[in-house]
Amino acid sequence: MLGVTSTDKLSKIVQTLAADPLTRVGVHRATIEHEVKEEIAQLSVSISLPLEAGGETEWKLLEPNRLLAHVVENSPQLAEAYGRAANEHMPSLERPWDLLICFDEFVPGDKLKTFNSRKTMVLGFNFRQLGEEILSYSMTWMIPITVLANFIHDTLGGWSHMLAQYLRMQLLGTQGLMQAGVTLVINGAPLTIFANVDAILADYDGVRLGWDWKGANSLRPCLRCWNVFKKNSDVAGRLPNCVEITCADKRKLVRRSNEDFINDVDLISEAGAAWAAGRLAKVRFEELKKTSGQNFNPMGFVADRVLRLHFRPLDVLNQDWVHGMLSDGIMTTEMSCFLEADGEATRKDYENFMKGDIRFPKHMATKGSAPPCSKFSTSLSPTPLLHMTLQITSFATAGLHIPQSSV
Ligand SMILES: [Zn+2]
Repeated sequence: MLGVTSTDKLSKIVQTLAADPLTRVGVHRATIEHEVKEEIAQLSVSISLPLEAGGETEWKLLEPNRLLAHVVENSPQLAEAYGRAANEHMPSLERPWDLLICFDEFVPGDKLKTFNSRKTMVLGFNFRQLGEEILSYSMTWMIPITVLANFIHDTLGGWSHMLAQYLRMQLLGTQGLMQAGVTLVINGAPLTIFANVDAILADYDGVRLGWDWKGANSLRPCLRCWNVFKKNSDVAGRLPNCVEITCADKRKLVRRSNEDFINDVDLISEAGAAWAAGRLAKVRFEELKKTSGQNFNPMGFVADRVLRLHFRPLDVLNQDWVHGMLSDGIMTTEMSCFLEADGEATRKDYENFMKGDIRFPKHMATKGSAPPCSKFSTSLSPTPLLHMTLQITSFATAGLHIPQSSV
């Protein structure tokens, strides 16, 4: 951040943050940079990653457990929250805390002028035991990873491999949360945190990247259900007990077991090896990947046999149903069903309504100079239309194929 922040802005930030602003006014940029670098250096680690093009690269990140100890030690309020949580549930090897991990890609800067070369993967973690209120403050989430998407793209095994490496470090390293535990100092007394992964929170694209899944548009559009297939794929009808993603009857959706998923992952790994050795035709290999819905990545997180001993890939999956609901098949089907069910208004009426004078309710208006409740023209702004559409579909979601979320 220091690299791109103007000196003026930096000075303001320091003045705001410093306990005694007077002592920091006019502090030289170089001094701040030096102080920050020194602090970061103590927390930094690097992991060697193989490159797609051959050779290796060094991936720099913050050691998650050292970061946790450092932040808690320097934040009395956060330390208090950890202390309170430990009073309720003392973490131990036998009764570890629940680790929550989230990751997503961001493009920093102006949202109207995005530079894809700046697209960045960010990973954060927290603990469920701290309680909803603490979890709702973004500043309580530790952020050990920010890495450019271009960097990830060039590595062999991609984000999924990096995720596996990260989890090994955080859980199984010398200071790992599942082995030695991480010792924090709370009011001068040590508290050792033991934790296991409870949920990995990512959106659908994150799940695709992390689980080496082919995604919501693939033949297997739901990672949770073994019997759900792509719309018009002509598969569901030919297999017993299988449905397409448009299925609105929850009772017909059958959960995929971890064993089933892991078997598929291993099958693809083995098939890839067989193909590389010339023992399997490329067509057959491609077919296997397509039918399993998995990409070939023996270095990936779900193929990691050590991590599997500690937690199971589908147990920690927190499927993002919002993206799922908007994916091909569900949204249009539900909208059509809703319109069909309305005995009074016709499709034409709805169409006219959508194209008409749509206004946000008055109570949503702000007092600012911009008139947010003024007439929106649907041809100029698609947002109100989407808003209305979502409102309408929210009435009709009862029987939807929404995978259960674990958080
Ligand atoms: Zn499902």
